[in-house]
Amino acid sequence: MEHRTHTCGELDKKHIQEEVTLCGWVTKRRDHGGLIFIDLRDRYGITQVVFDPTLLGGESVHELAGKLRNEYVIWCHGKVRSRPEGMANEKLKTGAIEVACTKLDILSEAKTLPFLLEGDSQVAETVRLKYRYLDLRRKALQKNLITRHKVILEVRNFLDSHNFVEVETPILYKSTPEGARDFIVPSRLNQGTFYALPQSPQTLKQLLMIGGMDRYFQIARCFRDEDLRADRQPEFTQIDIETSFLSEEGLFAICENMMSKLWKVILNQDVKIPFQRMSYKESMSRFGCDKPDLRFGLEIQDISQVFANSSFQVFQSALTPTVRGKKGSICGILVPGQAEKFSRKDLDDLQSQISVFGAKGLLWVKVQDGLVLKSPAEKFFSDSEKQGLITNLNLKPNDLFLMIADQKDHVVLESLGALRLILGARLGLIPAHGQGKSEFLWITRFPLFEYDEKEGRYFAKHHPFTSPVPEHFEDFMAAKNLENMDANAYDLVLNGVELGSGSLRIYRSDIQAAMFKNLGISQEEAKLKFGFFLEALQYGTPPHGGIAFGIERLVAILCGVGPIRDVMAFPKTQKGHCLMSESPSTVLPEQLSELGLNIKIK
Ligand code: ASP
Repeated sequence: MEHRTHTCGELDKKHIQEEVTLCGWVTKRRDHGGLIFIDLRDRYGITQVVFDPTLLGGESVHELAGKLRNEYVIWCHGKVRSRPEGMANEKLKTGAIEVACTKLDILSEAKTLPFLLEGDSQVAETVRLKYRYLDLRRKALQKNLITRHKVILEVRNFLDSHNFVEVETPILYKSTPEGARDFIVPSRLNQGTFYALPQSPQTLKQLLMIGGMDRYFQIARCFRDEDLRADRQPEFTQIDIETSFLSEEGLFAICENMMSKLWKVILNQDVKIPFQRMSYKESMSRFGCDKPDLRFGLEIQDISQVFANSSFQVFQSALTPTVRGKKGSICGILVPGQAEKFSRKDLDDLQSQISVFGAKGLLWVKVQDGLVLKSPAEKFFSDSEKQGLITNLNLKPNDLFLMIADQKDHVVLESLGALRLILGARLGLIPAHGQGKSEFLWITRFPLFEYDEKEGRYFAKHHPFTSPVPEHFEDFMAAKNLENMDANAYDLVLNGVELGSGSLRIYRSDIQAAMFKNLGISQEEAKLKFGFFLEALQYGTPPHGGIAFGIERLVAILCGVGPIRDVMAFPKTQKGHCLMSESPSTVLPEQLSELGLNIKIK
């Protein structure tokens, strides 16, 4: 039986005169001489409990109440009564009543907490993480976890109603390439061999399609041993989806309906479907990134034409074709009517902020009255080039144009992509978390390959199971033109954040083998790592494709919070530590010897 008749968030005027029993944590205690008041808290809310020595049986209870301290867990019984005139708290559901306690039991005492739960206290996050179970008592974190639960529930119901079946796949498995390092687990029964924790259930969900499951999903745990960049976690959860016999558009429609359902249920917002679509190339050339925030403009403008015959050495070399026949570009971002807001120092700062992307310099042009152009490089601009800039960009007085010229197109675009975000933030164009409209966008036709200069070979941009677009299929099989090859790969982006990625897969063994070859993976290596998969593809494989959405990011957006650890019950630090349990930790020598392992620390 329940220990309590009601929760702490339930009682109101309707319950006046009722005898009730509540359980919870003591949140605030006020001793007004004769009367003691406490706020009793649980997940559902707060109820005021009063200990009045003049009530029947009240005296001994009052004495016990004198011992209560913050965070004690109590059981109490009493009658609901109206709060005295003028003492009601309109903001609280339970604000009009209080419980006059006649029976009290202290279920457990609490040491003084290492930090205050209430208020915006400046407690170091390391302390909060060490005592995560206490931090979890805060309403904000509880709300986030409850939202996460609701999101998962909605997703399950939605996908179930569309014929998807949730299938659990193993955690002890084999390496699944998603571009990160694997976490490996030594096998005791087969000494010297290892399992890998799945970076995602990629091959498994494809094998389920071969197994005829047709529509699969899983709330799937994924593990990636990366040097953790900001706001990444070594283990995280995906809504992992795979379908057979469905086009890209068919899959998009399912995902759009799922997102619109979530936005309606969680935020009570209507989102417009279908979402916009944009190719990777267009996204890069207009926004300098593959996850553009469409809530503001400041688009990249290509003005290479204006300077096609420039005498300025920087421009000339940018536009000179390289040995591989490619030339760079001169592009920029126009900040209309705000030139006077940017001092010399501001402009220098902008340049150093984007220098990591490899641009040699950020060139600025300010427009003065009478459309006179002011720039450190103005002496290199001919009159017709100046006029070309004015007409092409439709310049007005007090406009600022920020330019980058480079022989590598990606340097120009990525630098300007970063600059666009910095300018957006500086000009107040980017709404805070949870504010502003939701601009969903599909980015399609990602490149199939990425060339790694250091390793001197191609990598799969998404993963090696992604198919090339039909137009590039012949070249793909002939290992030609890999650099310019598009993939049937897509991302769903929302307000500058990647929500999920997926692709239509290769479903023929010979094409999959060609993919490994194009990636420079030898036949032996492919057989060793993916032999089972290549074989499986030979027994009748349906065309299939899928996607995976990161739950933490999705829930963080729906909760209007920034860091993903705020929507995880027990997150790890940037160094992959769980400060609460102090893991990872050493193991006993016996455990190592059972595994046949010796530790040799470098
Ligand atoms: N396995 C992929 C990932 O984790 C998603 C997919 O292609 O379905 O990004």
